[in-house]
Amino acid sequence: MQYGQMMDQPLLISSLIKHAEQYHGDTEVVSRLSDGSIHRYTWAEAARRARQLANALGTLGLKPGECIGTMAWNTYRHLEAYYAISGLGAICHTVNHRLFPDQVRYIVDHAEDRALLFDADFLPLVERLAPELPHVRTWILLGARAQMPAHSPLANLLCYEDLVASHSDHYAWPQFDERTASGLCYTSGTTGHPKGVLYAHRSTVLHALASSLPDAFDLSAGSCVLPVVPMFHVNGWGLPYSAALNGIKLVLPGNRLDGASIHQLIVEEEVTMATGVPTVWLNLLQHCETNRLRLHGLKRVVVGGSAVPDSMTGHLAEHGVELRQLWGMTEMSPCGTMSAPKFKHRHGGTALMRQLQATQGRPLFGVEMRIVDGAGEPLPHDGVAFGNLQVRGPWVLSRYFKRDLDASHTDDGWFNTGDVAKLDADGYMRITDRTKDVIKSGGEWISSIELENILMGHPAVAETAAVAAPHPKWDERPVMVVVLKQGTQATRDELLQFFQGKVAKWWIPDDVLFVDELPHTATGKLQKLKLREMLRDHRWPNDQ
Ligand code: ADP
Repeated sequence: MQYGQMMDQPLLISSLIKHAEQYHGDTEVVSRLSDGSIHRYTWAEAARRARQLANALGTLGLKPGECIGTMAWNTYRHLEAYYAISGLGAICHTVNHRLFPDQVRYIVDHAEDRALLFDADFLPLVERLAPELPHVRTWILLGARAQMPAHSPLANLLCYEDLVASHSDHYAWPQFDERTASGLCYTSGTTGHPKGVLYAHRSTVLHALASSLPDAFDLSAGSCVLPVVPMFHVNGWGLPYSAALNGIKLVLPGNRLDGASIHQLIVEEEVTMATGVPTVWLNLLQHCETNRLRLHGLKRVVVGGSAVPDSMTGHLAEHGVELRQLWGMTEMSPCGTMSAPKFKHRHGGTALMRQLQATQGRPLFGVEMRIVDGAGEPLPHDGVAFGNLQVRGPWVLSRYFKRDLDASHTDDGWFNTGDVAKLDADGYMRITDRTKDVIKSGGEWISSIELENILMGHPAVAETAAVAAPHPKWDERPVMVVVLKQGTQATRDELLQFFQGKVAKWWIPDDVLFVDELPHTATGKLQKLKLREMLRDHRWPNDQ
């Protein structure tokens, strides 16, 4: 065997910000701050301040290999922390503050975070948890002196702006093995403790490259991107990294994720592409409808994280916006598939395009996928068979942080996603459910996602969840839990009738429950477990 004779340069996160500084130094990074004001600077300033912060963290005694937590919205300071922490060789642990306080305490403690950088909004939460976080030695409030509390029980509470200002911007990013850990993110975990996923520099840079491609996010220096997906949730789908790699104009929405605020940023900052979970776009579209607004300039939204209602594609198209689906997981950095069309689809028209957009998409280069039956035997990729989805690739986790290998990985090196899916010959995937949400009726499976998708097409339905309720005869039967749009009305029978002819008869739900609000997880997904519990003693109509 002979080695190739090319330079063996490690793929490091610091190379991304260095590139952005050198070649896109005057491109803007815009942030909405918690008081609603807009902060504006450039990639050159972001890089300079990241170096100052790296110097500061070093002075505070923080070392490569240690975890440093962040609890912050999408803003320029969080972006600087991303680059400073990973760049110096430490691990940037993005803490999801929307988890239950006890889960937040658990993950900061489990990661053994040595310092915590947090937005002023989270001061009360941090103060409350601090006595139970013995590993954290330094608390840094991501703000200016004026935002510092007069009194705080936190020993060693530092002001971010003072810290940055008092350190030099001369800092040479260290070179090290590209497999070094760079970031840590915990999955929400509907049961048990959250599990940590430890990313590496190599996996992060490869993911940033692959997810930039035209059939993925389609990023370029000509684009302006608004990641509504939070940076504490799977690294904001990797956009803080791919944005630097491409030198795009980045717009960070802070803590204001409502329809009006997002609309304003899209229009005023000339956003061309935005990313987020379906509820974000439902809120935005509703805001546009109520106020008769348009989404000028926006070319595409990438939607993922949970099932995307088909109706959303059409509503966005009315604004001239293309919807592209993304499927991924915390365990996959997160991008696995995207729903871009192929050359052979070019004459298929809107109908075919819609069909493709209704899928979760096909794998990015680097992601291998297969579906297996209950015994672990591979199933055909024929668009019909469905089974447990398994993946592998250079940005898929090889084991959970500080845990032994378990049933999440197969003996032959695949990761069990916990999703049930169909794959066609081109790799276009349709998730039919999460393994734990599937409705098992009379020994057969009913896809909760498909039922939700159908009912979302009803004009009176704002949001819905198909939930398995225990049934004496069939084991489980589907019940639709429904939130109606304001000012509309619909009866149980009318909604059940809506399924006629759209699914097999035995898939048609047996009941409808109207509620004011559906429970969501920390990442904005339907909390099916709660709904299942709610329906545990469901009384079936007509004594079925
Ligand atoms: P959690 O919410 O558990 O923290 P993730 O964000 O990693 O974690 O969730 C990943 C899961 O979200 C996937 O396994 C899948 O079930 C679901 N998901 C992601 N994207 C889509 C999509 N486009 N359509 C349907 N489900 C999706």
